[in-house]
Amino acid sequence: MSSYTEILPEKFLNQTSDELFSYSKNIVPGGVHSPVRSFKNLHISPRFVKKGDGAYFEDVEGNQYIDFCMSFGPLILGHQNPKVKAALTKALDNGWTFGACEPYSVALADFLTERISFIDQIRFVNSGTEAVMTALRLARGITKKDKIIKFNGCYHGHVDSMLIKAGSGLAGEPEASSLGIPKNVAEDTIVCELNNRDEVIQTFKKYKNQIACVIIEPLPANNGLLVQDQNFLVFLQEQCKENDALLIFDEVISGFRIAFGGMAEKTGIIPDLVTYGKIIGGGLPVGAIAGKKAFMEQLAPVGGVYQAGTLSANPLAMVSGLETLKQLTDENYKKMEENTRNICQIFRDHFQEMPQFQDLKIYSFGTLFWITPKKDRLRSLDDISGKLSESFFELFKHLLPKGIYLAPNAYEVGFASLAHDENVAMELKKRLEQ
Ligand SMILES: *Cc1c(COP(=O)(O)O)cnc(C)c1O
Repeated sequence: MSSYTEILPEKFLNQTSDELFSYSKNIVPGGVHSPVRSFKNLHISPRFVKKGDGAYFEDVEGNQYIDFCMSFGPLILGHQNPKVKAALTKALDNGWTFGACEPYSVALADFLTERISFIDQIRFVNSGTEAVMTALRLARGITKKDKIIKFNGCYHGHVDSMLIKAGSGLAGEPEASSLGIPKNVAEDTIVCELNNRDEVIQTFKKYKNQIACVIIEPLPANNGLLVQDQNFLVFLQEQCKENDALLIFDEVISGFRIAFGGMAEKTGIIPDLVTYGKIIGGGLPVGAIAGKKAFMEQLAPVGGVYQAGTLSANPLAMVSGLETLKQLTDENYKKMEENTRNICQIFRDHFQEMPQFQDLKIYSFGTLFWITPKKDRLRSLDDISGKLSESFFELFKHLLPKGIYLAPNAYEVGFASLAHDENVAMELKKRLEQ
């Protein structure tokens, strides 16, 4: 408690979430630094979080929540994991950035290239977006081609070429999903539907010798959980080989979560390049791009594909990443998946008892889960129920006052962690029954 009061300027102490949000809205666009935090369409102020501990966080009013957002994924061990905290505290004694070579990133790169058999080299950046941006530039540099295939419903951060939504079919003009994207950038991104082989084949045909790469979330988890048929991923790999294009797996969410080596390890389908983020920094800002040496050495200073970063491989972030990843043992994966199963069952039982939620189903994969109106098939954006947002808002507002926090958007998945153990499951059950 004391640290909170010592760090903050006095005028922000004892302010409620409502007050802080009003104040923030004057000096920050929409009051937030990332749009999904804004509780848009929920018509309540976002909770302002004071501190986190294990599976819980506490808002500035002192209300405590079971956190199923976990910073949108990085905190796979929970808030303030003791080993990560101890390592960070020690690391602080040496300073927090050097802009020079240091041994901390060597240790993390060594650990990763040892544990993940299909990567020879890795380059650390500061976010998932940056990792994707670099992977795309690298793929274009290697293949000397410009066009990119991405899939409708996959999120790859806010880089210009990825903020493109499907036009109307292949004949349609690519359409930016944000203002400020140059037309000529949009034209180089072709958007296909997930699980649609024909569109991919037609795209490779139409743009013969022009496609640099196919990028996909091998477990699409940013527009609900759209688990792909493994054969679709194999198909993409074959198409890329046939057409001299690179396959990029964006494992920013799935990496270190579904398995240590992400979906690539889980399925045995090995991409040419892979991007990581979220868990890799254990809650500090880290992204990474990795792959075979021959590809990775096309990056500067060895190769001609430029990439750089003032704070890249920040020593504190490297220490936090390493201490987090070291704890991702087979045993802990088993525990986390068990935690997730327990939590999902408790939600499931609750939905059964509540007439207004009987239409809802909870889908899970590893330690991710997603609550949505029941569907037979969920492989592409079109499969998602039109009633999703409406039912989500009702559920969110039912859970929040009980001290249960979901990510404040219907399309975001839920994240369980090592800290969401049987005690937390019991507490969840108790809070739901209140
Ligand atoms: C979160 C995410 C990103 C973007 O990462 P940031 O660190 O938010 O820039 C990119 N791709 C996927 C699959 C993600 O889940």
